[in-house]
Amino acid sequence: KLIEGESLRKKLHNTILELKGNIRVFCRVRPLLFDDAAAEDEPNMVSFPTTTENLGRGIELLQHGQKHSFVFDKVFVPESSQEEVFVEVSQLVQSALDGYKVCIFAYGQTGSGKTHTMMGTPGNDDDKGLIPRSLEQIFESKQTLQNQGWKYEMQVSMLEIYNETIRDLLITNRPGSTELRTKQYGIKHDANGNTHVSDLTVVDVRSSREVSFLLNRAAQSRSVGMTQMNEQSSRSHFVFTLRITGVNESTEQQVHGVLNLIDLAGSERLSKSGSTGDRLKETQAINKSLSSLSDVIFALAKKEEHIPFRNSKLTYLLQPCLGGDSKTLMVVNVSPAPSSVNESLCSLRFAARVNACEIGTPRRQTSVKQSDAR
Ligand code: ADP
Ligand code: MG
Repeated sequence: KLIEGESLRKKLHNTILELKGNIRVFCRVRPLLFDDAAAEDEPNMVSFPTTTENLGRGIELLQHGQKHSFVFDKVFVPESSQEEVFVEVSQLVQSALDGYKVCIFAYGQTGSGKTHTMMGTPGNDDDKGLIPRSLEQIFESKQTLQNQGWKYEMQVSMLEIYNETIRDLLITNRPGSTELRTKQYGIKHDANGNTHVSDLTVVDVRSSREVSFLLNRAAQSRSVGMTQMNEQSSRSHFVFTLRITGVNESTEQQVHGVLNLIDLAGSERLSKSGSTGDRLKETQAINKSLSSLSDVIFALAKKEEHIPFRNSKLTYLLQPCLGGDSKTLMVVNVSPAPSSVNESLCSLRFAARVNACEIGTPRRQTSVKQSDAR
């Protein structure tokens, strides 16, 4: 009986590892900004446990005197640099060159640091975010692998999803033309597990500089759309996709990797009474897609038979890159401002749900995690 129990426990433990294998959740707390500092006498809201057990992985939030504790795969403190964050994701990024499908999401309320994490500060090289750093690494590795007989082709597309509608950010027409608004971008998946969005601009790229140029164009297109539709970038999801096809010239081996980097719409709940008309529709669309995303990741982590990909444009678009042996990372951005405590708690709870094994199941050992993170 004892042995049976022991092997059952081991089996359960292994199952948990397996379940959790391809989904990681990081949390990043941004520094307190000038605008946050209004209430200096309020108690420090966010803290990081210093016990060895969850060192670098724990976060505690104080809300109305009550403490809420969370453990993630990694927690970045306000002092963590862009470089430190990238070190933790570079392996994941690299795996796209090995033919994996990768999604990295930035989640959090508006102002919590999503865009800072993904893009960084334009013009400030030390402050570059995950997207430019990933591209530099990929194009550098491409060069190295080329010497080993691998030939790569890369294609980029960029879009945003606003109110469940896709908008191409690389369209070459003058921004503001009506075509931007009237095209229906249909999503199709082919037998090879690739996504096709009809009419979406796809650009062949050969260097990270070329991609930077396209990122700038997308940013411009995005802001033009904003004033046109009277929206803010925080109300839409930004999806950057790099498709990688590699062929080994001697073995003829082929790999098809995809790297999706996604700056999600702000997760804040607008007060229900205050939002009407377009604003209400917007809020509903955002809530729907964010909760669909969490439903999908939760269902994947639990290996459920039915994964509700079709419940939102975002999850349907990313379907081939979320299931199977693809890899997902959710970076949950949190503001340390006392005025944001309720939103921060919501974000951490969302993350805890995505981090499905956190709920009522034992943590896997750190040593195991580090080895399977490769
Ligand atoms: P979001 O995209 O979630 O709305 P931003 O990335 O625009 O938030 O961040 C809001 C503000 O906080 C910006 O001024 C940004 O430069 C700053 N910020 C965010 N994260 C950090 C960080 N880790 N270090 C320094 N400043 C940050
Ligand atoms: Mg932003």
